[in-house]
Amino acid sequence: TAGQVTPADIPTLAKESFPLCMRTTQDALHSTHHLRHGARMQYGLFLKGIGLSLEDALAFWRSEFTKAMSHEKFEKSYAYNIRHNYGKEGKRQNYTPYSCMKIIMGSAPSTGDAHGCPFKHYNEQNLKTKLMAYKVPTATIHEIVQLVRGSHFQLACARYFEVTHEQPSGTATVTHPNQYFEESRKIRT
Ligand code: SF4
Repeated sequence: TAGQVTPADIPTLAKESFPLCMRTTQDALHSTHHLRHGARMQYGLFLKGIGLSLEDALAFWRSEFTKAMSHEKFEKSYAYNIRHNYGKEGKRQNYTPYSCMKIIMGSAPSTGDAHGCPFKHYNEQNLKTKLMAYKVPTATIHEIVQLVRGSHFQLACARYFEVTHEQPSGTATVTHPNQYFEESRKIRT
């Protein structure tokens, strides 16, 4: 529901309740203070879906981007895009957050991009390294790699959900990053 998440909540929520796709994008934004168009769309719409208001979205992106560019450049080149995601510019469409299918079947990220689904788009070694960094147990990483090798990306994501939320194996289903988030909040709060 709109307006319940503020920019200050995002780092903690990312650790507790974001699926891997959005957590890795938040990491990339936080470390580089920039995201390219594909990631801005994918992540921006996800944040809108978890309840970040337009005003808070502008504040959130501005505070990160202006660590590496002027306020003028941000307003000129990026603010429109954010308002557009909220249906405030252009055709005033109300853009909806992307589903897993859309992300998995969508354009693959190239070097420097931060969009996509890590289970589908990372190479095996990068995926393992990321999962280790996020403290996923080795045995579970092995299971996830097997699922990924069989192209079962959403099952791999469900396994990640289960292990990070201390849920029994085979209980989670993941179809949408925002659904993942909602399920997580039910457990965490
Ligand atoms: Fe994100 Fe869906 Fe991939 Fe999970 S399966 S990382 S929620 S796109």
